[in-house]
Amino acid sequence: AAKDKGRNLLHVFDPEQNEHRQQRRAQLIELSRALENKEFELHFQPQVRIADCKVIGFEALIRWNHPHKGLLYPDAFLPSLEASHLEVPLGQWVLEEAVFQMGLWHDAGEDLSVSINISARHMMDWSFTSYLENYLQCHPAIKPEQITLEVLESTSLEDIKRASDVLARCQELGFRVALDDFGTGFSSLSYLNTLPIDLVKVDKSFVINMLNDSNDRAIVESVIFMGQRFSHPILAEGVETFDHARALSDLGCEYMQGYGVGRPMPAGNVLEWTQQWRKSHPASSEAAQPAG
Ligand code: C2E
Ligand code: MG
Ligand code: MG
Ligand code: MG
Repeated sequence: AAKDKGRNLLHVFDPEQNEHRQQRRAQLIELSRALENKEFELHFQPQVRIADCKVIGFEALIRWNHPHKGLLYPDAFLPSLEASHLEVPLGQWVLEEAVFQMGLWHDAGEDLSVSINISARHMMDWSFTSYLENYLQCHPAIKPEQITLEVLESTSLEDIKRASDVLARCQELGFRVALDDFGTGFSSLSYLNTLPIDLVKVDKSFVINMLNDSNDRAIVESVIFMGQRFSHPILAEGVETFDHARALSDLGCEYMQGYGVGRPMPAGNVLEWTQQWRKSHPASSEAAQPAG
């Protein structure tokens, strides 16, 4: 019996779990300081139409420019943030920063579109849509059509009704909505059916291996097929090579994003990258042929 008690105590004070919790709390304090000190930055990764390589926009991806550890990627700090009091403020910072960069590009003569990752909790925050509305009023140079809100397929199912109301309101305001990491959640089909969606993003984990793994290829094919059945355009993430692009195009996938097109880059490189890209892909800047 004494042995059992000992085991219970060990369970309650699981040192590993405890350490984990303490690390998370310490990182939250650091993150809050980082937000105040403006240590976050957005990098931007190009998204292009496969048929003619036209640049359709850039996805904003958050980075933490840590004073000692250098540039940190979202996997290293977003999990600590989830469900904390900082999740919404950081999400708002991302929106503000993305719109700020779009304003700079606009002033330089480029009206570029940007995709922004929105966490479920941020989207469910009571102030989310009024904040967006307010933002549009303050930045008349930016059209809502230039902004795509990316929501994760893993967003919890209980939130789906609220989510679809919020997203419908965003669409009313003119924003576009993309379903991110499609195929990784448990609810792929019901989401396609329930959520107002302008674009479906096939998760990179399937795309990366689609050329040598027939199961992954089958998933990519099915996702593209389903998206088409629901009349949603499809973007494939994780396009690392020309062969990926060709295979996806053969399957009817319209847009792509991945290291093969361009890696996420600091905001300051975006204009030059875009000009270089257009030079090396002349079809991308040709005006569409008038019909007839
Ligand atoms: P995501 O939205 O699915 O973004 C795509 C991720 O795939 C990015 O990782 C990008 O750098 C990476 N990637 C793009 N092309 C390739 C490729 O060809 N090969 C490979 N191996 N990877 C590629 P990153 O920047 O580390 O972001 C990871 C995740 O963190 C994002 O996945 C997104 O869910 C989340 N995230 C990033 N920024 C934000 C943000 O501002 N707010 C929120 N809520 N989440 C964010
Ligand atoms: Mg995304
Ligand atoms: Mg994704
Ligand atoms: Mg992802």
